Amino acid sequence: MALVVQKFGGTSVGSLDRMRNVAGRALATQALGHQVVIIVSAMSGETNRLLKLAHELAPVPSAREMDALAATGEQVSAALVALAIEAQGGQARSLLGHQVRILTDDAFTKARIKAIDDRRIRETLARGSIAVIAGFQGVDEEGNITTLGRGGSDTTAVAIAAALQADVCEIYTDVDGVYTTDPNVCPSARKIDRISYEEMLELASLGAKVLQLRSVEIAMKYEVPVHVRTSFSDAPGTLVTKEDRSLEEVTVTGVACDKNEAKVQILEVPDRPGVVARLFGALAARHVPVDMIIQNTSYTGALGATDVTFTLSKTDLARVEAELEGLAREVGGQGYRVDSEIAKVSIVGLGMRSHAGVAARMFELLAQENINIQAISTSEIKVSCLIAARYAELAVRVLHDGFGLGAT
Ligand code: ASP
Ligand code: MG
Repeated sequence: MALVVQKFGGTSVGSLDRMRNVAGRALATQALGHQVVIIVSAMSGETNRLLKLAHELAPVPSAREMDALAATGEQVSAALVALAIEAQGGQARSLLGHQVRILTDDAFTKARIKAIDDRRIRETLARGSIAVIAGFQGVDEEGNITTLGRGGSDTTAVAIAAALQADVCEIYTDVDGVYTTDPNVCPSARKIDRISYEEMLELASLGAKVLQLRSVEIAMKYEVPVHVRTSFSDAPGTLVTKEDRSLEEVTVTGVACDKNEAKVQILEVPDRPGVVARLFGALAARHVPVDMIIQNTSYTGALGATDVTFTLSKTDLARVEAELEGLAREVGGQGYRVDSEIAKVSIVGLGMRSHAGVAARMFELLAQENINIQAISTSEIKVSCLIAARYAELAVRVLHDGFGLGAT
């Protein structure tokens, strides 16, 4: 007997018929002799609809009330799926975040899980029932309802699987697995059978939207095997797991593209100690995470000037753009320049650790298409290049096929 956690995303519970399908799948799993815990998202489109209502009433709605509102989407799904299971002759019990007691901090709209009490889930399973848990929501120390950020049901599922030491956490979504790149951009993209936590973490942080980033962090920390698959067929999807030998044989596993960043250049700042510290200290104080940073040594002698270039999200740029001129002057610079028409394309793969020349091959492939590289950053298992946004799709296709990721 295994303990199986199954998470169903918005499209998988998008209608009563689809909920019946979810109920059937859970009951079939139980009939094999397993214990089943289900996590559900809100019906597709529901969270957006609720958030829009709040924004119509108030331009900047209170985060506490936003969470009280948004959490209702998952409450509806959990109750309906439990009813669908009972309608098919099974036994089920819905549980909300506060009923399980998924304890979070009080950072409304982006709360983090602190502890999960597994007692009520275990009791439900011991009675032979299926536990149907509302994803995305928790409760803080004071009893306020919190939510875990967009896509947070993934995190609920993996955290519950970790707390219960489940044998597997199946994530049912509207795609049938994790792909080598976005199939809408690159028709030769392939489904990946197995991928390591590290690679999935890079891909999720580089904008691949299959799994919420936080859920992958938790899966890696507690070594929860995650199976990303579709609820519309029985085909196996992608297994996210510990790295093993067979994973290492492939140099590049996936290609990602992120168009949500903008590039800022602070012009002609004095090249001396402390300047960069002040610049990025000021951004950190405004809670602006910075991604790539480039600073050359001075171009006019020992104590000359240089440009400092960095990237940040377009949303954060909108927040701080008005302050950039002042900030540049404050550090002795001559102003700033912004470019929002950029894209970051990245290649990710564990095999890079043991293969030389992967970055060089990437630059060569981009050069063959005459694509200029504006900045580069690397990690042990990733190389990212900043390029003009208009070449993003071309770059993805060229890298994907150049590294032999296409279907054969
Ligand atoms: N319903 C929430 C959202 O749309 C959480 C989730 O679906 O994972 O972001
Ligand atoms: Mg999702």
